[in-house]
Amino acid sequence: MPSRNSSRPSSTKSDTARQAPPAMHLSGSGVSAGIVIGKALLIRRELPPVVEVELTPAQVPAEIRRFKRALVASEKQLVALRDRVGEIIGAKEASIFDAHLMLVADQVLGREVIATIESKRRNAEYVFAQVIEHYGKALREVRDDYIRDRLTDVQDVAARVIRNLQGREHVDLSKLDEPAIIVAHDLSPSDTAGMDRHHVLGFITSIGTRTSHTAIMGRSLRIPAVVGVAKAEIQIAQGDPLIVDGTRGVVIVHPTEEELRDYRKRIRIQARWFERIQAEANLPTETIDGFRVQLAANIELPEEVETVKQVAGVGIGLFRSEFLFIRQATLPDEEEQLEAYRAVVQEMYPQSVIIRTLDIGGDKFLSHLDTPEELNPFLGMRAIRFCLSRPDIFMSQLRAILRASAFGKVRIMFPMVSTLDELLEALDYLRQAERDLDRKGIHYNRHLDVGTMIEVPAAAVLADKLAPYVDFFSLGTNDLVQYSLAADRANPDIAYLYQPTNPAIIRLIRMTVEAAYSHAKWVGICGEMASEPLLVPLVLGLGINELSMSPVAVGLVKRLIRRIRMYEAEQLVEQAVGCETAGQVRALCEQFIQRVAPDVLQG
Ligand code: PEP
Ligand code: MG
Repeated sequence: MPSRNSSRPSSTKSDTARQAPPAMHLSGSGVSAGIVIGKALLIRRELPPVVEVELTPAQVPAEIRRFKRALVASEKQLVALRDRVGEIIGAKEASIFDAHLMLVADQVLGREVIATIESKRRNAEYVFAQVIEHYGKALREVRDDYIRDRLTDVQDVAARVIRNLQGREHVDLSKLDEPAIIVAHDLSPSDTAGMDRHHVLGFITSIGTRTSHTAIMGRSLRIPAVVGVAKAEIQIAQGDPLIVDGTRGVVIVHPTEEELRDYRKRIRIQARWFERIQAEANLPTETIDGFRVQLAANIELPEEVETVKQVAGVGIGLFRSEFLFIRQATLPDEEEQLEAYRAVVQEMYPQSVIIRTLDIGGDKFLSHLDTPEELNPFLGMRAIRFCLSRPDIFMSQLRAILRASAFGKVRIMFPMVSTLDELLEALDYLRQAERDLDRKGIHYNRHLDVGTMIEVPAAAVLADKLAPYVDFFSLGTNDLVQYSLAADRANPDIAYLYQPTNPAIIRLIRMTVEAAYSHAKWVGICGEMASEPLLVPLVLGLGINELSMSPVAVGLVKRLIRRIRMYEAEQLVEQAVGCETAGQVRALCEQFIQRVAPDVLQG
């Protein structure tokens, strides 16, 4: 397996004449699935170099006109880009460019540049670059990831304006001459959105996360991508041959012949898989011995419904509603939320949609809310805790979800519930929201299913006390693992402790399932454990009723389930519960898959 740090194995004996550089393995987060092989095209996004020119007083008015013309040209380009993205991807993604347009039209910024051109008598690009540098410095000092991410927007717009002042061409990723894999420190939304799907084979960035705009765009365009590859733009040179595995988060620079052969084989296997999986799309999701399991999809944004409908043909088991809040500069009000939820619910009908209430905090922040900084954000004012402290925000979301329930099959669930008191308080707010709607005579589903996520160990242990108050449980195993082992899910240095196969986790899941069953409630998993092929037999044997996952994983999981016998999966769980270590459980799971579906491990 590739390590997080780069590793260069020694070169093979055969490369004697023209020694190829040894292969280098880099890793990051695979944010858009698929494997591609191609050459690196490095994109540098820093501001274009500018020179300082002193002006005579007579030259100042013309310089100001030149600056204004560059702003107008930038605005036109951005409007065109926004329209293009609107057509190709959707109106919501296109709205990212509204933030860019606002910067171009920012009166304060424009006035500051014009005043400085007048007072200092310097050329427009020089003054503009200095003002932008000042803005950038202020943004860099903010301890808020979301705001810091906006630095990319500012630099993107600044580079555009300066290029327009200098009459330079923009590097246009919609017009590449030949296929390439884009490598950059970071890519702006305009870079990604403009990408030509036929020529941009994939992309790699040094920074970014699954939730960055760039990653979201990559997934929407289905361009394989790995982000968070440390110093990618320094470690990779222009034209370097690359393999990008966007499924596993692996990048290989100067791959060996053997690696190329291996990955070409994987591409063929993936293609065949895809065909086979497509062919099985309409078969029931049931084990060999006839046990049915419900599969569902996780989404972050309404636009992803298209993918769910194409790939999966299933309902939505987790709609991470916080992304509606994160991606815009102001809080979405009740009407705006209603529109978003209604669109999803109507599109998905007759399938159901589980809308999770706002899970903000931890590593997801709202730049437009003035929340105090916390020493331990994952243990702090996150998810239901935040909502209970902000009834105004919570109530408008609850009303919007209830109202959306009039248009299809909606379920609601609360994230990160730790105690029964919290759950009861959340339910009180829900009743209050119902009364609000009753008073206004607004229609909603009075029998909406309500669930709670089980992602805090205390909730799993006391699941039997929570069960009477809900219709279902949804195990958020991403967090359950993090909180059970006290291992930050995002910290690679303690990744060895992030152990989904730890027997403690298996026991917590089993307790949750038993509590649900004893109250005749159903239980799902919407964390990554639901789609990890190795763990599917285990979760099946644990008696999970619904597995919810990224829509692209659904086909593979279905295929796997159809090769499993439930009684064997239950035996696997019995063995796992008795194990001492995560490694032992993992080995059992590997043996199981090796026996029933060895092709899954190769894919
Ligand atoms: C989880 O914790 O498993 C989960 C599905 O929620 P999130 O990943 O959004 O925290
Ligand atoms: Mg969670």
